[in-house]
Amino acid sequence: MISHPTPPLDLIEEMKQIRKIDLHRHLEGSLLPEAILTLAKKHHITLPANSIDELRPLVQVTEQDQTLLDFIKKFDVLALLFKNKKIIQDITCQVIQEAYEDHIYYLELRFAPTYMSGYWQLNYHDIIEGVLEGQELSKKDFPNILTRFIIIVNREAPLKTAKEMLRLGLTYRKNDIVGLDLAGDEQNYPPEIFQEVFQEAAQSNFFITIHAGEARGAEAVQTAVEKCRAVRIGHGVRIAGNSQIETLIRDKKIYLEVCPTSNVQTGAVRSWEKHPILHFLEEKIPLTINTDDPGVSGITLSHEYALLSDFYKIPVKTLQSLCLSSVQAAFLPEQEKEKLKKLFAE
Ligand SMILES: [Zn+2]
Repeated sequence: MISHPTPPLDLIEEMKQIRKIDLHRHLEGSLLPEAILTLAKKHHITLPANSIDELRPLVQVTEQDQTLLDFIKKFDVLALLFKNKKIIQDITCQVIQEAYEDHIYYLELRFAPTYMSGYWQLNYHDIIEGVLEGQELSKKDFPNILTRFIIIVNREAPLKTAKEMLRLGLTYRKNDIVGLDLAGDEQNYPPEIFQEVFQEAAQSNFFITIHAGEARGAEAVQTAVEKCRAVRIGHGVRIAGNSQIETLIRDKKIYLEVCPTSNVQTGAVRSWEKHPILHFLEEKIPLTINTDDPGVSGITLSHEYALLSDFYKIPVKTLQSLCLSSVQAAFLPEQEKEKLKKLFAE
């Protein structure tokens, strides 16, 4: 059983004060058990548990859960939530609010319409419109947080559906949908299966990130970059020690979206001691720090920064420079990045 280090509360509080960016956060895995219960009640959805204590192990990783599939299993219960446009709107507002309260100034939320439509068979357009309406509503209450969205192609879905996801994404690109991701069972579905779709996305100047090097090795990262034209990699932790791929990533300025707690919980790395974060910093691998699924993992981005400071003794200055890396890696036009850079330099 892996024990997870807990950074001191005052350090988490200190990290909360730093202006931050999260580039890798799944909308579907961001809700805490408390919010899940409240929203289910409000929208008359029956869950397999009625109290926080009963619900928590069904939607949040416990110490018994050790693998990526254990982690993915939590999404079976979460799927019950996506019943209609209205609750998707509420979920989006709630997730943006939580990021705002953690002093996140720029948030890229990703979501998989195929997963969200799985239980209630909701129409893909209703899902996307629900998310965008949620974004619109939160602009009034939380004007200081800028949000963009990434559509996820689910690896288990057929190629035809992957193409449909790209079409959908491009249809809504004027509404802050900025890119395409590939996620799901990496072990059984390597990125080359989808290269045609991602090459087309790249030709349409759609931003591309791909989950790779999480369950498979460095070769999957190389394929994601060279064949699928990813400019960012979800996790990528398994490239550590492969100098050829590390050089490729560094030379091409491909940013890794590292999510420390998630990386240990999914078994992408075996233990906290074995996480390659310090090696990546030493090797100057382009890097960003993110949460992945803060609700499922039971963390915040401030928690992740506190952990890096407490467990790996990474200086606060370095952490702040990682926030600037996130500006650089953001799926935004250059002028928007410049605005963010100024905000982060204040
Ligand atoms: Zn992810």
